[in-house]
Amino acid sequence: MVAEAENEHPPIPEIARIGIVGAGQMGGGIAQVAAQSGFDVRLLDVDQARLDDALGRVRDGLERLVKREVIRDDEVRASLARIRTGLDYDMFADVELVIEAASENEEIKRKILQSLLRVLRPEAVIATNTSSISITRLAATTDRPERFIGMHFMNPVPRMNLIEVIRGIATQEDTYRAVRTVADKMGKESVTAEDFPAFIVNRILLPMVNEAVYTLLEGVGNVESIDTAMKLGANHPMGPLELADFIGLDTCLSIMMVLYDGLNDSKYRPCPLLIKYVEAGWLGRKTKRGFYDYRGEVPVPTR
Ligand code: NAD
Repeated sequence: MVAEAENEHPPIPEIARIGIVGAGQMGGGIAQVAAQSGFDVRLLDVDQARLDDALGRVRDGLERLVKREVIRDDEVRASLARIRTGLDYDMFADVELVIEAASENEEIKRKILQSLLRVLRPEAVIATNTSSISITRLAATTDRPERFIGMHFMNPVPRMNLIEVIRGIATQEDTYRAVRTVADKMGKESVTAEDFPAFIVNRILLPMVNEAVYTLLEGVGNVESIDTAMKLGANHPMGPLELADFIGLDTCLSIMMVLYDGLNDSKYRPCPLLIKYVEAGWLGRKTKRGFYDYRGEVPVPTR
């Protein structure tokens, strides 16, 4: 049965060219890793300035690797030469895989998928890097749910070794295998997650962060004691509040809401103190204030 179903769709060619939509934190990182791994990369955004920034970050990232003697100087040039940037979907006409890494907004992602379908080869695979939107629901808006999959990279992409691979209800086995092969070529470990809210990493990590904020709210500990306790007591490289500031408190809150709404379970209710920080615009490192104040030489706890 499975083999028959797979025959309905043209076979997936070897993946050598990857299109990436969205040149933000994630898209830029994915472009770097893909180019370093020998893939031809086409990076698209709606904003030329974001493309220029992303290329600058890729260059800086590669040069840091030269300084640390991980790669040679000529590899920087070769990797950069493999990345083409642009604002027009036509450059995706010959790619075998697209990774959608634009803003986390379902409406935006749906529009991008429609633009992609106008130019993509019928056998091309579409992956999305969404952290929270249902893969199955996004897949259903395309002409190829069996060639649609989640490829959830971790931030920062060049440094984090994991990719969560998420199958939608219609995703075919050959699509899954093709994407795992790409992950291998990028030197990443992949784990398979089912298509449930927040997948594996965020499903486990964010409730821990949320619980740390409750621990703070209830006065069980202060910012410093909570982070020190988890670093030394659980051997975590970063304390949960430091980590929340790194992820962005707005992002933490939105992932908790996805869990709360998607799983309909009160155990995922976001901590009122987390909501208060977001309302204050204290979103963590990116706004220079969160559970720590980053405006001075060293971060200072805000509680
Ligand atoms: P970001 O805000 O840094 O970048 C988003 C980019 O998308 C921007 O450059 C923006 O100009 C572009 N964009 C917006 N609308 C577009 C459109 N219509 N067409 C093309 N480009 C468009 O966001 P990010 O942190 O890189 O996140 C991107 C995706 O990756 C999201 O789905 C997010 O959930 C997911 N993700 C983020 C993280 C993280 O830690 N930041 C981790 C894993 C996955």
